[in-house]
Amino acid sequence: MTSALTPCRSILIVDDEASVLSSLRRLLRHHNRDFQIQTVENGQAGLNWLKSNEAALILSDQRMPQMSGYEFLAQARQLQPDAIRVMLTGYSELESVVAAINEGHIYQYITKPWDDFQLALVVDQCLERYNLQKENRISRERLLDLMKHVNWGVVTFASDGTVAYVNDTFLEFLGRDRAEVQALVYESLLPDTVRHELEAQHKSTWTFVPNLKAVEHSFSVQRLGSSLDGGPMLLLRDRTDDEIFASAVEKLISNVTHELNTPLTSIEGYARLMKDKKTLTDAERFDFVDVILRQTRRLSGIIHNMLNLAEVSSGEQAVQIVDYDFHKMLQSSVDAAKPRAREKNINVIMAEETQKLAGQVPGDPLRLEQVLSNLITNAIKYSPPNTTITIEGGRGEQDYWFAVKDQGNGIPEVEQHKIFERFYRIENDVHTQEGLGLGLSLCKSFVDGHRGQIQLDSKVGKGSTFKVVIPTHKS
Ligand code: ADP
Repeated sequence: MTSALTPCRSILIVDDEASVLSSLRRLLRHHNRDFQIQTVENGQAGLNWLKSNEAALILSDQRMPQMSGYEFLAQARQLQPDAIRVMLTGYSELESVVAAINEGHIYQYITKPWDDFQLALVVDQCLERYNLQKENRISRERLLDLMKHVNWGVVTFASDGTVAYVNDTFLEFLGRDRAEVQALVYESLLPDTVRHELEAQHKSTWTFVPNLKAVEHSFSVQRLGSSLDGGPMLLLRDRTDDEIFASAVEKLISNVTHELNTPLTSIEGYARLMKDKKTLTDAERFDFVDVILRQTRRLSGIIHNMLNLAEVSSGEQAVQIVDYDFHKMLQSSVDAAKPRAREKNINVIMAEETQKLAGQVPGDPLRLEQVLSNLITNAIKYSPPNTTITIEGGRGEQDYWFAVKDQGNGIPEVEQHKIFERFYRIENDVHTQEGLGLGLSLCKSFVDGHRGQIQLDSKVGKGSTFKVVIPTHKS
């Protein structure tokens, strides 16, 4: 199998004298058996052959009837611009040779009668030149292709500092269009501090708010000495996601450690107390076991959330849509929340209308029950004692919905879109309520999996309503 980089040794010879063709053929065959030699007796036949064959070298006589060597080579150049063109000519025709050279139609000429050794040498040089040029072109095309598709921003400069090449990723990073960037020079593209650092150690970071973006992005910049274009080459990598990821991992570790530690300390403390205290009243035993059970539940909640996070992150949380009993799902979430609500003397009720719901709806009942339970748990956590939480549900033509309405703290408007981000917790609650800041982000992922929406209506001091809408039509 031949690859694009296999050297080409195909030679086309055009001469109207059959004896010249056969002696050239013999000479070149003898010189190198790998040569693939094609001979034709006129320019037109040569052009026809070139339309469907690759030639590394085209050797043509100048003086031929119908089409001269000069004309033929000029047309051959249109068909295969990379082929090396050489003219065979007598001394008397040097004028056309000069014209052909000046116009770029030929690379070299050989005078007739030729010296065998010299002709073979010229042919070798021409083939080598052709294959080197081809290799360069292919390597350059591959490099350009690579630069076009990598998710690194790439920009190269000419020796005078002007931009020679810039890939789409780079333009995207800066939020600028090609013309804008091409009008810049090396000095004006980068801030002085970044440029000086690059000159000293070839690496730097560049932090700025790109055009059309709201948040600051952080890029690592690498400067490679000299590009194909004569000036330096810069590579940019967007590190913003890495930094967000690193800070998320940091937050996760510190939240999880804290969240696991608190219930564990409490379980251990009460278990030790039960072991050490000689006599326990029934009421004490009940209270201690109750604390242990509550804290165990809290631990398993954390582990459950972590497992869900792992699933969501690995993209394995695909929802399994089936027809399920909507009312039953609502009721089971309400029932599950009641013991916890009772501890704060909170009343969890299902709205009267919702009690009458009947029939099946499409969705993933396990995931949606998880969503509803999370919303009710939050409502309990972030509501003062002696309040009421109302669960509502309903069906429309294109969708169905359920909502959790509390009489709790409420959520300030500026925080409302942030609380759906992973690990985000409102500052005040961090110190007063346990939590990982994961519940709502998981709810959102599960609802997104249904192509549904999660809406929030909240007023500080009055309470919050989280509403989930799930479409029933298949799209
Ligand atoms: P967690 O409860 O573990 O902190 P969530 O992702 O469930 O994490 O919630 C994120 C934040 O949103 C909470 O820390 C809290 O500040 C706020 N929040 C969620 N639900 C309510 C609610 N019903 N009332 C008031 N604040 C809420």
